[in-house]
Amino acid sequence: MRLTALPRSAAEAFASLLYPAHCAHCSTPVDSQEFLCGGCLEKAKRIEPPFCDTCSQPFDGAIDGIFTCANCAQRQFHFDCAVSAYRSRGMVRNLIHRFKYQHEYRLRHPLADWLAESLNDNRILARPFDFYVPVPLHPVRIREREFNQAAVLADLLEKRSGKPVLDCLRRVRYTTTQTRFDRNERMENLRNAFELRKNTGVQGKHLLLIDDVLTTGSTVDECSRVLREAGAASIRVMTVARG
Ligand SMILES: [Zn+2]
Ligand SMILES: [Zn+2]
Repeated sequence: MRLTALPRSAAEAFASLLYPAHCAHCSTPVDSQEFLCGGCLEKAKRIEPPFCDTCSQPFDGAIDGIFTCANCAQRQFHFDCAVSAYRSRGMVRNLIHRFKYQHEYRLRHPLADWLAESLNDNRILARPFDFYVPVPLHPVRIREREFNQAAVLADLLEKRSGKPVLDCLRRVRYTTTQTRFDRNERMENLRNAFELRKNTGVQGKHLLLIDDVLTTGSTVDECSRVLREAGAASIRVMTVARG
């Protein structure tokens, strides 16, 4: 008689409940506490130079030195730069989507790994910062999603780097989804959507604004406008991925 499956110890069974033993993307078996297999990790699309110094938008072609994309050249953002190490494509986009909308909370770990890579970007290393600031969600959205993805990721960065989170923004307007809007409509939709929380000061502080994805930059720009008006000395943005 051939045994197809050996009985697992209670500890192993418990561990397998806590830690997925399969790649979250392709289901290949992985070591416990790993979330993605080596093959999938390699497939994550990195942002390689040349890319826009302001918004990290990659450019298809050869450019030497610092480059600003046409979109950023036309527009004055309230943040200094937005840094991502990955494109929001394929697997990266899929994992972000599952984390945010399908309540796959464990995916915070691989996403935080990708986010943390931006801490080594020259634009972040150039100057020390004081706080991570998560982009806030409206309380109604938090009830729908069960958590604020930006706050979860900022908390993991705090644990890894020792730099503190300052949860100083709140979302005071419930805005409809932005995806159908053009840039001007997005800006209008976001106007006065954010406020500084009472009893929080950012005067003279260097801030890293944290979110999951940067697409047009309208949301982080509106947050940055509020922080800038409150006297922040610098605002840089870090996201897991760039749309
Ligand atoms: Zn895989
Ligand atoms: Zn740009």
